[in-house]
Amino acid sequence: MSVITSVVGFPRIGAQRELKKAIECYWKGQSNVAALRATAQELRSRHWRLQAEAGIDLIPSNDFSYYDQMLDTAVMLGLVPNRYQDLGLNEEDTLFAMARGYQGSQGDVTALAMKKWFTTNYHYLVPELDSSTTIALSSSKPFDEFQEAKALGIHTKPVLIGPYTFLKLTRGPRGEQIKYDDQVVEAVSDVYAHVIRRFIDLGASWVQFDEPYLVLDKGEEDINLLRGLYSHILPARHSTRGSIQLLIQTYFGHIADCYEVVTHMGFDAIGLDFVEGGEDNLAVIQQVGVHEDTSIVAGVVSGRNIWKNNYTESLKLIDSLQELTPNLVLSTSASLLHVPLSVQAESELAPEVRDHLAFAIEKLGELHDLAYLTQEGNLVRQHDSLLTANQKLWSEQRVCTDVAVQNRLARLKPEDYIRQPSRSSRQPIQRQRLGLPILPTTTIGSFPQTNEIRSERARFSTGEIDSDQYNHFIAQRIDHVIELQEQLGIDVLVHGEFERNDMVEYFGQQLNGFLFTQNAWVQSYGTRCVKPPVIWSDISRSKPMTVRWSAYAQSRTKRLVKGMLTGPVTIFNWSWPREDISPQEQTQQLALAIRDEVLDLEAAGIRIIQIDEAALREKLPLRHTDWHKKYLDWAIPAFRLVHSGVKATTQIHTHMCYSEFNDIISDIDAMDADVISFEASRSDLTVLDAIEATHFETEAGPGVYDIHSPRIPSQSEIEERIRLILRKMSPTKVWINPDCGLKTRSELEAWPSIEHMVAAAHRVRAEV
Ligand code: GLN
Ligand code: ZN
Repeated sequence: MSVITSVVGFPRIGAQRELKKAIECYWKGQSNVAALRATAQELRSRHWRLQAEAGIDLIPSNDFSYYDQMLDTAVMLGLVPNRYQDLGLNEEDTLFAMARGYQGSQGDVTALAMKKWFTTNYHYLVPELDSSTTIALSSSKPFDEFQEAKALGIHTKPVLIGPYTFLKLTRGPRGEQIKYDDQVVEAVSDVYAHVIRRFIDLGASWVQFDEPYLVLDKGEEDINLLRGLYSHILPARHSTRGSIQLLIQTYFGHIADCYEVVTHMGFDAIGLDFVEGGEDNLAVIQQVGVHEDTSIVAGVVSGRNIWKNNYTESLKLIDSLQELTPNLVLSTSASLLHVPLSVQAESELAPEVRDHLAFAIEKLGELHDLAYLTQEGNLVRQHDSLLTANQKLWSEQRVCTDVAVQNRLARLKPEDYIRQPSRSSRQPIQRQRLGLPILPTTTIGSFPQTNEIRSERARFSTGEIDSDQYNHFIAQRIDHVIELQEQLGIDVLVHGEFERNDMVEYFGQQLNGFLFTQNAWVQSYGTRCVKPPVIWSDISRSKPMTVRWSAYAQSRTKRLVKGMLTGPVTIFNWSWPREDISPQEQTQQLALAIRDEVLDLEAAGIRIIQIDEAALREKLPLRHTDWHKKYLDWAIPAFRLVHSGVKATTQIHTHMCYSEFNDIISDIDAMDADVISFEASRSDLTVLDAIEATHFETEAGPGVYDIHSPRIPSQSEIEERIRLILRKMSPTKVWINPDCGLKTRSELEAWPSIEHMVAAAHRVRAEV
């Protein structure tokens, strides 16, 4: 029997982050669109070739993007709002205007909203549909890329975001849910049907529709929408010119609640994630069965972790799948977009560490190995060195446990998770002691990371400058921004985070238990990439990590300076987790380490401490029913453990990079922080209704302007924003701050924006 292999999607940024560099060069006007296109084409061909050489059968195309695949799909369907079209820019610039906003000779528009892609740290742009939109095929990108690969002799499987997921993620102009009326359903499915027919003409054999939204809870109307869309699309697979096979690809969870429906719809292949949601997926196909004309594309190699595959476990699963269907395709569990490119680039990791790792390119090899071991059956497996080497790796103990950490965890008591006195008694005490005005202004922590700062950090890490020189440099930068913030009239200052490359890596580097990669970049949004640290063993803190610079900054001013920490849930969510102990245990270990830091900051005289939980929401399980049981029940207590030891007078802030927490608003309140800042300017403000309705106790700073965009907001537009906030919240509970940290902005963008923000706060303060 033959088993073929499929890859859901491949990283596009390049081994040296070439795409990032090319796009950023283009934005700065240092190169032209032809150069940008050439780099993009070069990367695509390199990535296709890699997969072809690895022996992958179904190689994706159209998984490339200049910014984001949802944005590309929006453009493909003609969802380019008039305000972007009216700028009269070329194709790429229109796309970038939608992605990042535009401010220039052609006009001034804000960007589309941006949201996290399911449970990943990747962000997509939220397509916008309004009554004036004409839905029609408006891009040739998928076809161009298919033909580009074909010209290289590589027959690809074009990949598209499926219509169900696309529509579920599309919003109206004010961020509201759209109506899935017949007209919309028909227009969208017409485009997809058209695309399929084009691919038949071009000679494609497969097309993959990504439908990750299917792994969420659904109602009757969702199933109707799914059916409605595909009943129009599926017939297009067969035309007089030929036919094509349609793969519906799901990932990030199971589809046990709709597998039967999907099976009856008649897809040629169903892609299932056997890493996240594997048990449920297996159970449902065992129960319902597999149609004889349908292939199961089994996601057995994780697209979400960096660890080697356990071949013995995978083969066990594959064997049970083979009992259910002869049409088995082995694939990655999700797009490899979410993992780094290659372990080969990690020359500084010890061989015994590298031995455990598999990034995108190595995962291609694993798929190939598994297909071979499956195909050749038991005889080969018994003495195949591929398998024995893998078995050996998994049979050995990878790391030793840290007894001190284990003992500390074992001694934790329920009261360690409760801060005393209660928040309602702390709030008046803090108001009086901290002496802040109404609508206090602050920022989220980081200030522009200029080239100079980056290069000094780099010179320090390579030893070109010594620690005295480096520390002197950082101190100067802090002096500068403290003075600047005083001049700007900000109430609660920050030190600027110049010593930090990244809000997680900085802590990881100082904690025991972490490992670092040199080049393991993963795309976060647009050209922004992150390089998450690896949790390798038990975590502990040996010495203070942030006290020096926070205390220094505080010593330079009479105003209050906030201490700045990253919370345990975020450190965990933005690291590559271990798979041998639970997420809960890893997060608790982190919480204890950060708790020590909080107490040290307090002892050093820092009276306001912000503990960022930027990533708390993104790992919320996709199915509502799992939220508490599988996540919040341990994530929220971990945060409480971090700050429960401080005095009533110490004000604890937290920050979150999203605004969609209406549905977990009471859990957020239960974190028991005194103040929370969150992103709000790029999305709808329904969270404010929820704050109002639930009598949210935490003071809050809904971000008053978007920091992901280079545009500078005007004072009056910020004033309007604040007035809007004040319609929903009591002025005594409102803080004025941007959406997030300013490190990605240039100084020319950051300072004028802050100036406008402070002026706006002062103006509105006078009104209340
Ligand atoms: N304190 C961090 C900063 O300002 C928070 C960043 C974030 O929320 N992503 O950069
Ligand atoms: Zn943020």
